Amino acid sequence: MTSIHPQQIYAKSILLADGWQENVLLQHDSNGVITKIKPQTAKPANFSGKVIEGAVIPGMVNNHSHAFQWAMAGLGEASGETKDSFWTWRKAMYGFVENIAPEDLNHIASALYMQMLKAGYTSVGEFHYLHHDKTGSFYENPAEMSMQIFEAGNNSGIDVTLLPVFYRYSGFGPRDPTDGQKRFIHSQDAYGRLLEQVHLLASEYNQSYGIAPHSLRAVAREDLEFAVKALRSQSTTAPVHIHIAEQTKEVDDCIAHYGERPVEWLYNHLSPDETWCLVHATHLTPEEVTSIADSKAVVSICTTTEANLGDGFFPMLDYKSQQGRWSVGSDSHISVNATEELRWLEYQQRLRERSRTVLVDGANSSTGNWLWTQAAQGGAQSLQQPVGQIAIGHKANFLELNTDSLVFVGKSKEQLLDAFIFNQADTDTIASVWVNGIKLVEQGAHHAEERIIESFKESMTKLQRA
Ligand SMILES: [Zn+2]
Repeated sequence: MTSIHPQQIYAKSILLADGWQENVLLQHDSNGVITKIKPQTAKPANFSGKVIEGAVIPGMVNNHSHAFQWAMAGLGEASGETKDSFWTWRKAMYGFVENIAPEDLNHIASALYMQMLKAGYTSVGEFHYLHHDKTGSFYENPAEMSMQIFEAGNNSGIDVTLLPVFYRYSGFGPRDPTDGQKRFIHSQDAYGRLLEQVHLLASEYNQSYGIAPHSLRAVAREDLEFAVKALRSQSTTAPVHIHIAEQTKEVDDCIAHYGERPVEWLYNHLSPDETWCLVHATHLTPEEVTSIADSKAVVSICTTTEANLGDGFFPMLDYKSQQGRWSVGSDSHISVNATEELRWLEYQQRLRERSRTVLVDGANSSTGNWLWTQAAQGGAQSLQQPVGQIAIGHKANFLELNTDSLVFVGKSKEQLLDAFIFNQADTDTIASVWVNGIKLVEQGAHHAEERIIESFKESMTKLQRA
């Protein structure tokens, strides 16, 4: 972890929790945590800190990532012999992952996280399930692959919350794992040991962690309860993420096994609270929508991946009307672009409702402002991290919009986020990206770009040949 010097930053304009402010003096400590915010103030004489000329907004949280899947993004788009579905995509994915070695995971994740930073994501929740070698044997260090994810966090500078996946079965029943799943599998004991190691690694790397019981089909009830209990013996607040109702087949299989739908079952038998994140809560009844909203858990909506895989629509309007909390993730990384995830979340509803500005209420409300701030704060809650807004006690994770970009010319401050999300005519919209008060990206270039790209190419060339 790079050591951080306490520092002052002077921003010409900045989006705080209560709106835009001009001429703001901001100070962070040696952990990159904001200790002081003073708006409407003149730049001190002999100011030796950093000056930011553009408009500063909170960094976005990407709370659902499977880093290794980026290596095959774009490879699943040719038609197959049978009608393509999520399940044929998954089979292709299993074939590709077979040859990914620890250094490859490091290289792929480092490059991916660099791309995330360039796109305005400053935190990532890594739902990490590639644990073992290609024969399914544990590495000498069973947390080897988890460590590579933290290394990639270091290489890129992004904030990482590692969510090691607990995966036991190939389906409800429980059914034995398939050969393609052998790199993912743990017994309860082995998962408990992994979790202890991840706890130590997180503190060594100054990063965060939680757990990710993969889904109700991949763990039995006692496994899910075991994982939550093991986590709570280490941390009372670390997050719990689970894939919940992505595909209708998954819902049907759950009903066949448990006699209940996935979300229905989860709320009848466990007590998800604000530390939980339900990923792909796509197929819900109105009662399930209410259960999630009332529990204050966060849903993770992965708009572009869910579209790519043909999952279905999340019932956003019903959920929003009940103050449901939500966030975004780039999941399989067929798109690494926060504005695209958010824009299409709104467009889905416009197309369905045959209406416009569907997600905001009242006159003159900015859709872009609502989407960005809600997603960032929901993402922060889902990782249980002090991020997602620029405020005292929060990490200095933010981006500077390039107000000289053609899409921002002639816009007021209040219109900037609408232009950022809905005007896609210029790629030059982000001037710089900061994590823990450190500038990692400037004018589209990452500080370790050459080294990261070279390593990525090396691994991808090797995997292509394999
Ligand atoms: Zn996922």
